[in-house]
Amino acid sequence: MPVDRLLPDREYADLLALATELARDELKPLAAEYEEAERFPREQFRLLGKSGLLGLPYSERWGGGDVPYEVYLQVLEEIAAAWMSVGVGLSVQTMSCFALAHYGTDEQRDRWLPGMLEGQLLGAYALSESHAGSDAAALSTRARLNGDHYVVNGTKAWITHGGQADFYTTMVRTGEDEISCLLIDGNTPGLSAAPPERKMGLTGSTTAQIIFSDARVDADRLIGPAGAGMRIALSSLDSGRLGIAACAVGLAQAALDEAVAYAKGRTQFGKPIIDFQGLEFLLADMAAAVDSARATYLDAARRRDRGMPFGRQASVAKLIATDAAMKVTTDAVQVLGGAGYTRDFPVERYMREAKVPQIFEGTNQIQRMIIARHLKRA
Ligand SMILES: Cc1cc2nc3c(=O)[nH]c(=O)nc-3n(C[C@H](O)[C@H](O)[C@H](O)COP(=O)(O)OP(=O)(O)OC[C@H]3O[C@@H](n4cnc5c(N)ncnc54)[C@H](O)[C@@H]3O)c2cc1C
Repeated sequence: MPVDRLLPDREYADLLALATELARDELKPLAAEYEEAERFPREQFRLLGKSGLLGLPYSERWGGGDVPYEVYLQVLEEIAAAWMSVGVGLSVQTMSCFALAHYGTDEQRDRWLPGMLEGQLLGAYALSESHAGSDAAALSTRARLNGDHYVVNGTKAWITHGGQADFYTTMVRTGEDEISCLLIDGNTPGLSAAPPERKMGLTGSTTAQIIFSDARVDADRLIGPAGAGMRIALSSLDSGRLGIAACAVGLAQAALDEAVAYAKGRTQFGKPIIDFQGLEFLLADMAAAVDSARATYLDAARRRDRGMPFGRQASVAKLIATDAAMKVTTDAVQVLGGAGYTRDFPVERYMREAKVPQIFEGTNQIQRMIIARHLKRA
């Protein structure tokens, strides 16, 4: 069912219509096949790039779309509703560009940002390591300055687009107490990818370890001052979490739509099952969860668009939207009964895909810690 969207300006209605059409015609029909085959949708990212959808919240000066975050997130929601792996990929791409767009010098931005925003290049965001997940600041990948370049050694874990990406926004230790951000070219000698992780869901989205073995990275690829790496990583995540919230809402909306359509068509005891109050209330609760999760991410995005602090609200949005997606997709399987448990319908896949947004970009336990920290500070 099309979502009746409230946009900050009518001029964005065409953009939303373009995204919705592309999602319906070019993404949704391929999703089940690619996910089953664990095939990475590289061509579909190129298509998003050509359609101007890969750099939406960034400045037009470097090839972005200059659209408010609340509009970008609603585009993202439509993409994720059609195909979660592509939605998450778009969100990761946006997050991978954040460091350069917000902390790079004009010279660095002139050099690299247009290729990243115009869609020729696909990005990855490399913070986590196998021993440094929730405790990301414990990372141990080292970059040693040697004249005009860094020598990087270590292994990043769980990297979305690992092995597929053209650039890696990578947090590295440049001193005992110093974490910095390097924008590393995917073709750098000494950079390699491990075989992709075998995952429960989001199987079209490649996740892999990235190994740096004496990788030589030009010193001018340092983004922001040395030592600013965690500040950059955490501010990237504040915005990135809004992207994950929007993806989760898209996934939940897709599950709700499937459940409603099935319940209208399925008859038991001589009437459509949607007319049983037991299911009416279940579907109503699902719709309420989707609408309220959407309102929560939009509230955070509007604060961001107005230059207000939004970190706490981003954590609330990520927590609420991803928990809602888990519940709504699980309930959608219930509405479809036995059919919901088969691969003939997409809801079982939606349910598998809903689990990981509760885990990445800070688990939902970590979101609660962040929210509590804000409460203590107030
Ligand atoms: C599919 C996928 C894609 C990913 N993509 C990326 C990516 O592109 N880039 C990237 O850098 N990372 C990525 N990640 C990594 C992701 O961000 C981490 O998995 C996540 O931060 C959790 O870290 P961990 O897996 O090491 O779990 P752990 O930190 O070991 O946590 C295990 C459990 O302990 C809980 N826990 C930990 N500390 C606390 C605490 N202080 N209080 C309460 N509970 C706690 C956690 O909530 C969790 O339930 C990805 C992960 C997955 C699964």
